[in-house]
Amino acid sequence: MSSRDILVEGAREFGVELSEIQVELFIEYLDNLQSWNKNINLTAVRNEKEIIVAHFLDSISVVPIIEDNKTLLDIGSGGGFPGIPLKIVRPELRVTLLDSVNKKVSFMKDTVRKLELKDINAIWGRAEDPENNIPRKHFDYIVTRAVGSISDTLELSSPYVSKDGVIILMRGKKGSDEWTMESENIASGYELVDSQEFTLPGSDLARTIIVVKPN
Ligand code: SAM
Repeated sequence: MSSRDILVEGAREFGVELSEIQVELFIEYLDNLQSWNKNINLTAVRNEKEIIVAHFLDSISVVPIIEDNKTLLDIGSGGGFPGIPLKIVRPELRVTLLDSVNKKVSFMKDTVRKLELKDINAIWGRAEDPENNIPRKHFDYIVTRAVGSISDTLELSSPYVSKDGVIILMRGKKGSDEWTMESENIASGYELVDSQEFTLPGSDLARTIIVVKPN
């Protein structure tokens, strides 16, 4: 199967119909990622088809949870995952990408510029820095993918979530066990809204999505 077909068919498995324009944006993103990845470490996954599955489709897996025309903060976005794919699929989403490594932020800014995406900002800073200029209690969605333990991630995320907003934790195959193990520390402060376990299309990569709301 071609890379494009893997992307289109895989997205369909999450109920997402990609337009031709969106597919082109993903291909441009892929090219830019592979080009920058020669000089800075954005991803250990180098193969084109594997990037599509492990990064693009994984990011698309949370699309069904996310409504368009809302605000989203991606903490520890790295190479732009999941924030940039979410912006491609949900074009009216107002996205803030945050990472503590300046070179990664430069990559994200370059990608946003090349893809001509609007209402999306990449910011260099740490989530726990009180002077990072990111508004508190503001975002409808906080997403984090592969950023520390669940309790650490919740601590970093909770200052930013709006009153009716949610925090989306994108975890690997042990996500449910992690939640159970850490639940004593976190149960009192958060309500579990949703938890999903699945395998990424055309692979054996297991994933867990955990959606929580601060009490
Ligand atoms: N979310 C991306 C992904 O799934 O491909 C990157 C994951 S990478 C393992 C974790 C990222 O979080 C790194 O780029 C790191 O610089 C960033 N990071 C870690 N702690 C952070 C913090 N406190 N504030 C902002 N970024 C942070």
